[in-house]
Amino acid sequence: MPNTRVIYWFRTDLRLHDSPALQAALGLHPEAFWPVWTWDPHYVYRARVGVNRWQFLTDCQNDLSKSITKLNKKSKLFLMREAPQTLFPKLFKAWKITHLVFEKDTDAYARDRDANVIKAAEEAGVQVIVRSGRTLWDSDLLVEKNHGKPTMSISQVQNAGPKIGLIPRPIPAPKSLPDPGPTNLDFKQDEPDQRPDFNGKSRQSADKSYEKIAGPKGDFAVPTLEELGFPSATSAHRGGETIGLKILDNIISDETYTATFEKPKTSPAAFDPQATTLLSPHLHFGSLSIREFYWRVQDIVTTFKGKASQPPVSLTGQLLFRDMYFGAQAKLGYSFGQTMYNSHCRFIPWHLPSKVNHETKLVTGEYHIDSTEAEEWFQRWKWGRTGFPWIDALMRQLRKDGWIHHLGRHAVACFLTRGGCYVSWERGAEVFEEWLLDHETASNAGNWQWLSCTAFFAQFYRCYSPVAFPKKWDKEGAFVRKYVPELKNLDDKYIYEPWTAPLANQKKAGVKIQGNGSEDVQGVYPKPMFDFGERRTVCLDGMKKAYQVGLYGDDAKVIDGSWRKL
Ligand code: FAD
Repeated sequence: MPNTRVIYWFRTDLRLHDSPALQAALGLHPEAFWPVWTWDPHYVYRARVGVNRWQFLTDCQNDLSKSITKLNKKSKLFLMREAPQTLFPKLFKAWKITHLVFEKDTDAYARDRDANVIKAAEEAGVQVIVRSGRTLWDSDLLVEKNHGKPTMSISQVQNAGPKIGLIPRPIPAPKSLPDPGPTNLDFKQDEPDQRPDFNGKSRQSADKSYEKIAGPKGDFAVPTLEELGFPSATSAHRGGETIGLKILDNIISDETYTATFEKPKTSPAAFDPQATTLLSPHLHFGSLSIREFYWRVQDIVTTFKGKASQPPVSLTGQLLFRDMYFGAQAKLGYSFGQTMYNSHCRFIPWHLPSKVNHETKLVTGEYHIDSTEAEEWFQRWKWGRTGFPWIDALMRQLRKDGWIHHLGRHAVACFLTRGGCYVSWERGAEVFEEWLLDHETASNAGNWQWLSCTAFFAQFYRCYSPVAFPKKWDKEGAFVRKYVPELKNLDDKYIYEPWTAPLANQKKAGVKIQGNGSEDVQGVYPKPMFDFGERRTVCLDGMKKAYQVGLYGDDAKVIDGSWRKL
């Protein structure tokens, strides 16, 4: 349409296939069309985005930019280094924009950000079009059909979802894209950011390029990790729509795996390949559409000759869990990510003052802390030095690869909270937020609440042993040997309990079990930081008391997976 000038704002939908918002934008038949991604200070300047997730994000951006250029040589993903709230009003004017289009985001912060941008657009006379596309069903509608309540169980999703309608079939990727208009930025830029960059230097003095919206070369290029002040990524898992779709193709090509997938039967100790799809980071960044995933699987299930698995354990069932947490967050907003003010999260007096309140100096990598016993446990958990090889291997996998299997996440989350350290789930969720490639505010907070038995799940007496549980999956300890190489030559018999290995066996394996992991000494692996059996009893007692009285007094009961006062 003549005089229709559209900014398409990419955020958590870094793809061309199955994008209802992109389809709506292209349906306007614009004379000029700018695909844009803006710096979001909330993301860029927050400490809790590790290097691996940055790498994955920039992979997605590079891949998308290339795909856009394939459809129109004059176009690309225009990467802007300024916050949307201040940038867009200037772009609206400079580029004579008539429409701003983007995919709906129900994360609490995103809602505030988008409300500000929508207000600025209205003031500038720009029409805003928003379409849902991040979940199977629009999360707000899901809540509406769940009687206006947060979705706290999978059956609520299974009841409410179909009331909205059938999960939409995916939309094909566009075959061409309109030309962008001129990309002049001849307006006054904001004050340069004074906050330190990732290396602690002032951005202003360290790198003038941060003042430039279009990047160091003025070409709107995707930033490099170097520009961001990061060292190289350590994870081999890479991002981008091309890779996401290829992984899905591979999975779908194995019809039996796809149709009979049962989550509880997949091994948390499997690596190379892992036992589940590892598509979560692609769903997070939108480099794979969730409806594409759903329908490709569902179509196999429908035609499968044998006995297909069913939700919630099946592959499509996993996607329902994602929608459940999104629905809970859509209703509860900011409070969903914490215990305070969260009407659905049970209060547990975590972090009980320790019996032996000793001062410990713990040195782990660059970290150096003076702390109470619980703080020491937390740090040892985080850095994979608890002395329990199963827990340490998982936490090291998380730090290095940015991903661990769901049951691995269960094991470390239970260990940190109600099944070992009795440290608040919020501390653990922060670590996951920093290191996960797939960090999703809704899924992370929700799953931590589940595992700590503060919401969604209440069977706190079911605890994961760091010894018996992994033995069930991996008797020889191949997973531990990979991620905790200090133990790689230890006999199978001792692999999950190295402190029980006689000195002669330790010597033979070239490892000494000693100390608290505070120093990185080659050939030394720490002693366990506590007696697990004792801690389990202490935690169970604590949980029992918290459930009896807790925040709600004596008269309380779990209804629909969450704690309610009667
Ligand atoms: P698959 O088993 O192949 O499942 C397919 C998809 O279903 C996943 O990609 C994911 O999008 C979705 N899914 C599966 N299980 C869940 C679940 N329990 N909750 C929500 N979505 C699910 N998942 C995240 O995407 N982001 C997070 O930040 C996150 N934090 C977690 C924190 C804890 C403490 C726990 C216990 C789980 C967390 N999960 C999170 C859920 C789950 O562990 C991952 O989604 C899953 O392990 C990703 O691997 P996959 O893609 O191979 O999963």
